[in-house]
Amino acid sequence: MPDKSTTSKPAAPKPVTPAAEPQEPQTAAAATETLSALRKIYPIVKYGDPILEKSTLAVKEFGAELEQLTEDMFASMYAAQGVGLAAPQIGMSLRVAVVDVTAGKNPEAKIVLVNPEVIHYEGEKREEEGCLSIPGFRGYVVRPQFVTVKAQNAKGEPFEIRGEDLLARAFCHEIDHLNGILFIQHLSMLKRDLIKRKIKKMRKLGEW
Ligand code: ZN
Repeated sequence: MPDKSTTSKPAAPKPVTPAAEPQEPQTAAAATETLSALRKIYPIVKYGDPILEKSTLAVKEFGAELEQLTEDMFASMYAAQGVGLAAPQIGMSLRVAVVDVTAGKNPEAKIVLVNPEVIHYEGEKREEEGCLSIPGFRGYVVRPQFVTVKAQNAKGEPFEIRGEDLLARAFCHEIDHLNGILFIQHLSMLKRDLIKRKIKKMRKLGEW
């Protein structure tokens, strides 16, 4: 072991910026960017995990912690390129979902649904649907064309929101998640079994 005399001289300490030096004022956009960079990106739970097929618990505590969770859910959803995400999909059995059918393009389109329920629906529409928890598989599902949902926001304030077409579909899909129902349960048994068999095979190969 070399003694002290052979070790290299410690580098001169780096000049430290005086704490009193005024910082560049941060723009609101930069602040938002910094915040979103700090968001937790949750891995998405995949089909096969029993949490996806269980009903969730009603939220009783609102506030900063729940707000943080919903913002993390938006970040996780955008990272996975989804338009909706329900808490069981990040491993939490809670009645919380987030929806943004603009996929992050319009911050005004962010919808937080806490303890949501469909109170009115109208019409029917058959469209192809997918799910972040069942990646690579899609299927046609009949959903109402219009729905009205009653929910609370992260602060616990109640509200009602009406959705049409894709938004109505997203509401139904996410509320289904909170009841332990996946979109494949709306497919024909033939189609559903085909998907299940393929997933089983993928799981054996370590691809799921
Ligand atoms: Zn889904």
